[in-house]
Amino acid sequence: MSQRYSDVPNRPRRQCPGCLRTLVVNGDNFHVDSLCADGFTRKCADCRNEAERIRYSLEAPERARRVRERRAERRTYFEQTGRYEAA
Ligand SMILES: [Zn+2]
Repeated sequence: MSQRYSDVPNRPRRQCPGCLRTLVVNGDNFHVDSLCADGFTRKCADCRNEAERIRYSLEAPERARRVRERRAERRTYFEQTGRYEAA
């Protein structure tokens, strides 16, 4: 994909709002997004990957917390429905 662009003089460049680097707009530097005007995401691929990684690590404890809460709910439920008294 980048091969196609590398032959074109004055190929489009764009400054990434994330890292402020000015990069050639192609599939190597930017992720493809058909919803965007020129077919690529506004932030460069590096920033997108970084954001994805951070988002994932931020959500990990949140996911673990939800699982714990579900388990606590279930235990409370069983305790309230007789299993606790029967024991
Ligand atoms: Zn960037």
